[in-house]
Amino acid sequence: MFHTILIANRGEIACRIARTARALGCRVVAVYSDVDAGAAHVAAADVAVNIGGARPADSYLRGERIIQAALETGAQAIHPGYGFLSENPDFVAAVAAAGLMFIGPSESAIRAMGLKDAAKALMERAGVPVVPGYHGADQDPAHLAGMAEMIGYPVLIKAVAGGGGKGMRLVERAGDFAAALASAQGEAATAFGNANVLIEKYITAPRHIEVQVFGDGTRALHLFERDCSLQRRHQKVIEEAPAPGMTDAVRAAMGQAAVRAAEAIGYKGAGTVEFIVDGSGPPRADGFWFMEMNTRLQVEHPVTEAITGVDLVEWQLRVAAGEPLPLAQGDLGITGHAFEARLYAEDVAAGFLPATGRIAHLAFPAGVRADTGVRSGDAISPWYDPMVAKVIVHGPTRDIALARLAAGLEGTEVAGTVTNLGFLARLARHPGFAAGQVDTGLIARDLAGLLPDIGVDPASDALAAVMLGGFPADPGAGFTLWVPLERRVDLVESGRLIAARAVLDDAGATVRLDGGAVTVARGPQGWTMPGRRAVLTDAALHVFDGTGACRSYALVDPLARDVAAGAGAGITLSPMPGLVKAVFVTAGQAVAAGDRLAILEAMKMEHTLTAARDGVVAEVLTAAGAQVEAGAALIRLEDAA
Ligand code: ADP
Repeated sequence: MFHTILIANRGEIACRIARTARALGCRVVAVYSDVDAGAAHVAAADVAVNIGGARPADSYLRGERIIQAALETGAQAIHPGYGFLSENPDFVAAVAAAGLMFIGPSESAIRAMGLKDAAKALMERAGVPVVPGYHGADQDPAHLAGMAEMIGYPVLIKAVAGGGGKGMRLVERAGDFAAALASAQGEAATAFGNANVLIEKYITAPRHIEVQVFGDGTRALHLFERDCSLQRRHQKVIEEAPAPGMTDAVRAAMGQAAVRAAEAIGYKGAGTVEFIVDGSGPPRADGFWFMEMNTRLQVEHPVTEAITGVDLVEWQLRVAAGEPLPLAQGDLGITGHAFEARLYAEDVAAGFLPATGRIAHLAFPAGVRADTGVRSGDAISPWYDPMVAKVIVHGPTRDIALARLAAGLEGTEVAGTVTNLGFLARLARHPGFAAGQVDTGLIARDLAGLLPDIGVDPASDALAAVMLGGFPADPGAGFTLWVPLERRVDLVESGRLIAARAVLDDAGATVRLDGGAVTVARGPQGWTMPGRRAVLTDAALHVFDGTGACRSYALVDPLARDVAAGAGAGITLSPMPGLVKAVFVTAGQAVAAGDRLAILEAMKMEHTLTAARDGVVAEVLTAAGAQVEAGAALIRLEDAA
């Protein structure tokens, strides 16, 4: 075994690799960019080396600089993780040239699978079924159109150098082919510097089922399949193992095809052979086709670990260090069922728009494996993938594992940035998904029903009012004479002003809100509300309601409250503490509902504050550059004369 390895990556995968490496007694060297100096993966390592600026091209993609860091710190081997340099054959060659070991396949194996067209041709020769289609060299548009006609519509145009769904176009009929081809080629040229495409039969109701393989450079074995059919725009969202409806016969056929693929290129280490599967009925031995091979550890590898009991990173390190494969095919079996959900900082309702922000609070319930590269207080920066965590569960059956996934997501707490948690929790409760009817179109078809509805929640408002209102949580203290029995509490949540009046009594408090009265109980642990959990951080009081939603409350600045009381409605309040970056209006200016008034930078994110209604700006109570508290009055509107 190596005494020191360098991990050429960041985030959750760097933390994940460090965990196993250190458990094996191996010293871990981290590399980091300027913005990652305080990141979790640096804290998880024994030694860390700064390799440059925030942009990946200035740090995590600088192969020579990373190799130099390995040599300087006495590392014997480099683990690339996934993404960044993990599938870059030139990097593999440079690592070897420096006398270091690359923890992964050979340069030639990566090259063989690097382009989709060459990989398909190679797999055809190795007897692996490939999707019917054209992957030849002739890129003449008329020729390609002819091929599409021969394959039969619908067809899929794919960039040969593609990845992440880029340069891919579905074409339903011949009349649309020329335009789709031009746009796929244009996107491919920009994204990959290679405009070449291939044409494939489009499999309707497709499922994405992939096989985990592991090779020693000559022989390979497989660790069964993962179903990654729950996708949105060709990106995986929830993965599971084994695949629903899989039979032993089809599993054996897919496993053998995957092993043939790996052995055809002398594969060493962990890899994944991706197949597209006809999902119109149960999986068939003649109903799966090779799509591509990922020559690295995959994001969703933990579901395979959960059902096989194998630590894939441990195997990677052992095999790279020259040990034989730890087990034989016959020693491997499947126990139970596992799911993984990818938790991202993204705004699902806004079309899955990636988000940034400082994670004010992050916690996972007992019973889940949470692989994460961020901690409470860490930032999701705009420079890298906005993944917050992978939530992984295991159970004896698919139903039990899925129930654990739903409960695990509903019990997860993230505050400080918008995330897809509520969406994932709904997906885990989707009846079609529960029935195993998974295909890559499920999310798009049912998107409306999967969007969480984060409306006003009086129970959360009431709990926040007593907790932030300074009422004693200790039951004994509630009756001291200096405590007023009734108090007004003004709160702000997502820019919404809440005027609450709380009255203390023996059992707890009654909170009067706009919509009525809500009772908050006082238990031995303090204020409680069924189904709600509250966490206080520097930034705010965050209330979780078990749907994945987080509502963050702050007290309203009393001065702002007085202005608001004196002037009636029409006050734009600061939704959270922050810096006013810009003010777009001046006193006397007429505005329409929705017009931009100002920009607030808070929690490392810019928030645009807009006019709630038509009116005229009566007063601008702030200025660009001002630091403001939550609930501070910023702009007052009045009705047009
Ligand atoms: P990329 O490398 O860009 O991710 P892939 O070839 O891996 O592209 O395909 C990504 C996804 O696109 C698959 O998981 C599947 O959902 C869909 N897909 C790919 N090929 C086909 C096909 N022939 N028919 C239907 N869907 C396909």
